[in-house]
Amino acid sequence: ASLYKIDCWGAPYFSVNSSGNISVRPDGAETLPHQEIDLLKIVKKVSEPKSNGGLGLQLPLIVRLPDILKNRLESLQSAFDLAIRSQGYDSHYQGVYPVKCNQDRFIVEDIVEFGSPFRFGLEAGSKPELLLTMSCLCKGSPEAFLICNGFKDAEYISLALVARKLALNTVIVLEQEEELDLVIEISRKLAVVPIIGLRAKLRTKHSGHFGSTSGEKGKFGLTTMQILRVVRKLEQEGMLHCLQLLHFHIGSQIPSTALLADGVGEAAQIYCELVRLGAGMRVIDIGGGLGIDYDGSRSTDSDVSVGYGLEEYAAAVVQAVRNVCDQKFVKHPVICSESGRAIVSHHSILIFEAVSATVADKPTMSSLGLQYFEEVTDDAGVDYRNLKEAAARGEFDNCLIYADQFKQRCIDQFKEGSLGIEQLAAMDGLCDFLSNAIGVSESDPIRTYHANLSLFTSIPDFWAIGQLFPIVPIHRLDQRPGVKGILSDLTCDSDGKIDKFIGGESNLPLHELAGEGRRGYYLGMFLGGAYQEALGGLHNLFGGPSVVRVSKSSGPHSFGVTRAVSGLSCGDVLRAMQHEPELMFETLKQRAEEMSRVALASGLARSFHNMPYLITASSCGTANSNPYCYCDE
Ligand code: PLP
Repeated sequence: ASLYKIDCWGAPYFSVNSSGNISVRPDGAETLPHQEIDLLKIVKKVSEPKSNGGLGLQLPLIVRLPDILKNRLESLQSAFDLAIRSQGYDSHYQGVYPVKCNQDRFIVEDIVEFGSPFRFGLEAGSKPELLLTMSCLCKGSPEAFLICNGFKDAEYISLALVARKLALNTVIVLEQEEELDLVIEISRKLAVVPIIGLRAKLRTKHSGHFGSTSGEKGKFGLTTMQILRVVRKLEQEGMLHCLQLLHFHIGSQIPSTALLADGVGEAAQIYCELVRLGAGMRVIDIGGGLGIDYDGSRSTDSDVSVGYGLEEYAAAVVQAVRNVCDQKFVKHPVICSESGRAIVSHHSILIFEAVSATVADKPTMSSLGLQYFEEVTDDAGVDYRNLKEAAARGEFDNCLIYADQFKQRCIDQFKEGSLGIEQLAAMDGLCDFLSNAIGVSESDPIRTYHANLSLFTSIPDFWAIGQLFPIVPIHRLDQRPGVKGILSDLTCDSDGKIDKFIGGESNLPLHELAGEGRRGYYLGMFLGGAYQEALGGLHNLFGGPSVVRVSKSSGPHSFGVTRAVSGLSCGDVLRAMQHEPELMFETLKQRAEEMSRVALASGLARSFHNMPYLITASSCGTANSNPYCYCDE
């Protein structure tokens, strides 16, 4: 566990159990060992064929743990409640979940349900997100906020106003000055009194990767001049009381509470000025930015870590708002945050299988077939004999020089067509043999493990912005890993590899593949519940993984699978690119009939139905009854 720093990034949810497997404490609290959820048991349950009592799903797999989600929400709320109580703050905290982080229906529904006792709401940034937040919040607390962010057209604004008519506590946050005219016009047409917020462009700048949209030149929000024009316009229209919320967002992964307090303090000054100008201010919405410590280092100068926990974050926010408001004798506002990453990251684990690994060839001298070079008298033959004589005299430096010359000569001859492929292979074998014998080859070479996964689909931020996530074998952690490896995915793309790991490492300690067919070595990518699923694409037509929802249970097992959905099938991903799998199948079936091969049709149908990932012995149940092969035809 210490090798992978699990205690640093995984606490309080993930640890290693006495079987050497990663286990989950869904409540984030000490539990009896038998109440912990063993991830390997979930994988076995999910991938075993139905005939063996499993669910017959293919990997890769996303395991969602709603109990962790609940714990994250409650922990965030408690952190603010504590800060508010201990600092004598005179209002409350009421957060929203920005659905962009993961729009999965069950995640959003869970958040609405778990957050309902403390009025937790949702944030939308586009029209489909607004539709989903509207419908989900119908089941939430009537006081929960529905914050409407993002660029808006008349349809977006109309929908947001309709949401108000449906008694949802909707706030239209102006992202651009032009949106105000539409809000005024449409709200009059629909006869609804809008609640308006505005997003301020702060001067405070977050310098990390995620802060590139903050500061005066940031992409979003209103400048000070625009804010004043909005206030004047609302005043002229007799609607200044509708302006009730001030929002800002200085970027995700805010590294330190110092920067956070700086931003919140600046926003609180704007808030107080809006109060002075007569707006009906009630809420300060501090956006997202509550970070995750992906490597557990608590560092403030890295994009993958943050130097605070939930309680320090909440304390810094409450203090910054209170100081400014007290100074200006302004009533304390409701504090809203739009934390996404911090809510959903932990509860979702991506599990995939390493299906093979590169192995270094270790030929013996006698197996190399070097007699050809003994017999030729050309330059390659001369280099070879020089090399042999230097080796016999024990002149290792000369050996290496002659080996280089010999290698280059052979490559040139192969390109000219005067050397056969067997001789080229013999030369490679000899050079490897020599460097091993002399000890110049890396004693501990980095091996490539092939993962049954698409990086572009499942970990797009690694490829796009170099985001690191903890990746760890989910079992065999009671055995010392003997290999250093990198991971390469299934796509035919050289970017489809993971060669950077938390802690600044360029390789990952891994175990030798073992077991029948060297299959069944499972790795988990942790803390990836935010952003990865919505950003992932269909490169090489690899679609989304299977998903299971696993809850703690008091029954004989510590867990129960409450929902299981297979990942996108080959047919599904083809459909996404405008192909029509049904017609494709008909075409192939017709061809099979013309060729008197009618029996092939059922296998073809299965291939449209199966997921695009490799079907391995361990992912399709017992090896001797592979349900996917065509051999019965
Ligand atoms: N609110 C807004 C306006 C955002 O742009 C974002 C994402 O960057 C968030 C909230 C969520 O941020 P985070 O995931 O850091 O909590």
